[in-house]
Amino acid sequence: GCNNFCTYCIVPYVRGRERSRKAEDILDEARLLGQQGYKEITLLGQNVNSYGKGLTSPRDFAGLLSELNGIDGIERIRFMTSHPKDLSEGLIFAMRDCEKVCEHLHLPVQAGSSKTLREMNRRYSREQYLELVEKIRDSVPGISISTDIIVGFPGETEQDFEETLDLMSRVRFDYAYTFLYSKRSGTPAAERGGQVAEAVKKERFNRLLDVQNGISREINDLLLGKSMEVLVEGRSRNSRNTCTGRTRTNKIVNFPAEESMAGRLMNVKIRNVQTWSLEGSLEGN
Ligand code: SF4
Repeated sequence: GCNNFCTYCIVPYVRGRERSRKAEDILDEARLLGQQGYKEITLLGQNVNSYGKGLTSPRDFAGLLSELNGIDGIERIRFMTSHPKDLSEGLIFAMRDCEKVCEHLHLPVQAGSSKTLREMNRRYSREQYLELVEKIRDSVPGISISTDIIVGFPGETEQDFEETLDLMSRVRFDYAYTFLYSKRSGTPAAERGGQVAEAVKKERFNRLLDVQNGISREINDLLLGKSMEVLVEGRSRNSRNTCTGRTRTNKIVNFPAEESMAGRLMNVKIRNVQTWSLEGSLEGN
């Protein structure tokens, strides 16, 4: 669940308030997965950064990551989703210090205008978000950052939207999930005046996509010729003789390999890049 009540979101109404699973249960589950040969775990929650509130034995998310980092067999730890207002310095340091925590952070910004963020009830400003990204990149060099963005929130002006484009160009997200605002009945934003016309939303959405696609491609271009560790997930959907996997930075890589390699960590040399994925070949692993 979630306690945040962003004004466009239905989750707190349908899923209820946030609850933290006992740390011992999570650790036991991860230990079992490690013994069974699983190499990667992903901790999932609407707002993982607020983990631990309400537990009888106090824990925070950074502490949980440190404990998971010590589990044999598990090689990679991922988590999502992080709310920028709850992302603590302690968590940034845990990402820096825990070698199994992957260098990828999904950090939904939703909008680049402080006015829109206020109306969304996100409880951070554009400046605070930019500062946070800077701190994260200072501590975890090379980290990839992805985001969610809503286009056409009620009351969004052309200037507000241009602030979103500007923020994207400043942060240079590796990738972004972009959404056209749509009303969710029962939420405050659905009742608001100033709903943005569909045609305007779509036009802004396409501009946003153009900017983000250009950035994603430029970032991927820098990976050409690099050797990257990939966890092989299995056969690629597009080709029988190709496997697919992910880098620690959550980039999808396709490469010729036997399906029997699924579950292994391999080094792959990047030989071709696309906007949303990479292609490569196995190195002498
Ligand atoms: Fe909670 Fe995320 Fe919905 Fe905001 S957008 S209310 S943080 S689930």
